[in-house]
Amino acid sequence: MSEFDYDLFVIGGGSGGVRAARVAAGEAGAKVALAEEDRYGGTCVIRGCVPKKLMVFASGYAGVTEEAASFGWNIEPGAFDWPAFQQRLHAELDRLEGVYRKLLAGSGVTAYDARARLRDPHTVELSTGETVTAKHILIATGGRPVRPDMPNAHLGIVSDDIFDLEKLPETILIVGGGYIACEFACILNGLGVKVTQYYRGAQILRGFDEEARGLIAESMCENGIDLHTGTNIVEMHRVADLGENGSDGMGAPVEDVQFGGAATTDTPGGGPIRVKATNGAVNDFDMVLFATGRRPNTDDMGLGELGVALGRNGQIEVDEYSQTGVPSIFAIGDVTDRVNLTPVAIREGMAFVETVFHGNPTPVDHALIPSAVFTQPEFGTVGLSEEAAREQEPVEIYCTSFRPMQTAFAGKPDRVLMKLVVSRQTRKVLGCHIVAPAAGEMIQMAGIAVKMGATKEDFDRTVAVHPTMAEEIVTMRKPTRTA
Ligand code: NDP
Repeated sequence: MSEFDYDLFVIGGGSGGVRAARVAAGEAGAKVALAEEDRYGGTCVIRGCVPKKLMVFASGYAGVTEEAASFGWNIEPGAFDWPAFQQRLHAELDRLEGVYRKLLAGSGVTAYDARARLRDPHTVELSTGETVTAKHILIATGGRPVRPDMPNAHLGIVSDDIFDLEKLPETILIVGGGYIACEFACILNGLGVKVTQYYRGAQILRGFDEEARGLIAESMCENGIDLHTGTNIVEMHRVADLGENGSDGMGAPVEDVQFGGAATTDTPGGGPIRVKATNGAVNDFDMVLFATGRRPNTDDMGLGELGVALGRNGQIEVDEYSQTGVPSIFAIGDVTDRVNLTPVAIREGMAFVETVFHGNPTPVDHALIPSAVFTQPEFGTVGLSEEAAREQEPVEIYCTSFRPMQTAFAGKPDRVLMKLVVSRQTRKVLGCHIVAPAAGEMIQMAGIAVKMGATKEDFDRTVAVHPTMAEEIVTMRKPTRTA
């Protein structure tokens, strides 16, 4: 008989926590419990990747009738019905949450619908008043979006709120230049919202390959997004709260104020928001979305008291086996702020089970992780950007940009970019960057080759699939430049 109630107690029912619990119970035969205070499925399923991708699909139909006309179809454009879509969206999320619960129950995991807090290295207190003990505790509590620290920031929504909006705004200001800001700028633009985006840096999607970022930014502007780089919010106020003294309340005479579209007064939260930007512009928006980063969920969990080290952003510090400085406590996923992606959290969960329950110490491999940004156009990327690779060693760059057959036929200006960053010494492909429709699907395949250490010559030996966009990735013969 074990001295503990459970072999493993998992805190957090998102992708990483559920996978670890399920595999530890189902495959390793451990006695496992899991606590989730909100909905099972976590950020990815309930308020992240899944609903976001369904919105990407919804928004992708915007130009379809126009394009279809070029291919001989006679289809009348229709209007987007947000409530109808939203109803189906939430039904799907409910279904998926049910699947997650079922998977846990099917693996023999005891689920507690409660908030959990650590009392000591082996004891968890639940908000239901129960106390349970476990040999190992795995924290997989994820993260949450954060607003900037400025007056009236509460007037802005965050990404979690989008899926529950009663109606779409006519105008929105999106603040930020990362994954979430750019994805929602494209989604909402496609759904007919007039989108303005402020990013404080010189170019959106910091850290990614510069040519890819440049093409995405240009395409977003061409598609109608009013993108301002080097720009941030200075002040924001609810228009209804401003005085009626002939000024805009922000130091600019009222005739200088440009009004960003027909702001309505019945939008969620109580009417238009007046925003002053660092470039001096004062505009009214129905809604402001802060996509200004996320913070790990480590507040009020008793971690500090136990000596579990936290980093500057509140993330749990772990070693390569996801173990904290307290040997019985491990952490995986966004709460550790390593690579904040669902499949990475799942890998970390699997590696944890392998290490702890199969006696096979397995470090998490964070190298060469392919990922996609679901902008329009989509961006798929793996490995080093040209800029990062050049810092590391001499490289050859193979790059092509062209108008793909389908949209070119329809008379659209859309461009595609394919790029390989190749080591001059080893000939290995160090980075692959694709800006194109379905780039996420393409990069999953290219990611296998890059992860296997494929050389440029391996790419060259591969016969093209014709006629496709992706064939260009194996037909670029001459380097565009060396660096
Ligand atoms: P990011 O960290 O990617 O982006 C945050 C953005 O907000 C940056 O552009 C940052 O600017 C800006 N910012 C931060 N603070 C402020 C401020 N005070 N004022 C103005 N701007 C500010 O976070 P996201 O929330 O977009 O995404 C979080 C993570 O979620 C991503 O890193 C990714 O791992 C994951 N994710 C993945 C997706 C996918 O795989 N497709 C989709 C969505 C999220 P600066 O660049 O100057 O720091």
